[in-house]
Amino acid sequence: MALRKIRTIGDEVLTRQCREVKGMTLRTRTLIQDMFDTMYEAAGVGLAAPQVGILKRIFVVDVDGEHPYVFINPEILEMSGEQTGEEGCLSVPGKYGIVTRANYVKVRALDQDMKPFELEAEELLARAIQHEYDHLDGHLYVEKAEGDLQEVE
Ligand code: ZN
Repeated sequence: MALRKIRTIGDEVLTRQCREVKGMTLRTRTLIQDMFDTMYEAAGVGLAAPQVGILKRIFVVDVDGEHPYVFINPEILEMSGEQTGEEGCLSVPGKYGIVTRANYVKVRALDQDMKPFELEAEELLARAIQHEYDHLDGHLYVEKAEGDLQEVE
């Protein structure tokens, strides 16, 4: 198990556009494993590569601790409905905000063997996918939060 340092808001790497992954390498496999380790250690439900300083279009999500997903070069194909709720980010420690997002998404991505898959998600999983997807384009949820961020008690 290897943990990576989580970059926090103010770090320029979090504002950058990530590059597509062209092929699987040992380095990228290790990155993905480290991202899961880092996410679980920090008790997060998602982590995107730029959060550990790597500008690649990769994120991992596991909203219930039992369904780990890797998304490489993801595309959001459909979005519908609306959900408004609390959202936090490992790169914005100690805070949360209220963010409105689509309640449903259909996403296409490559898995860690570079095989394409499609996933339909709702509620928390859909929120996590949209949040992590934004990281790949250099966006943080704080740009979308309604009102001021709140402190985690
Ligand atoms: Zn985040």
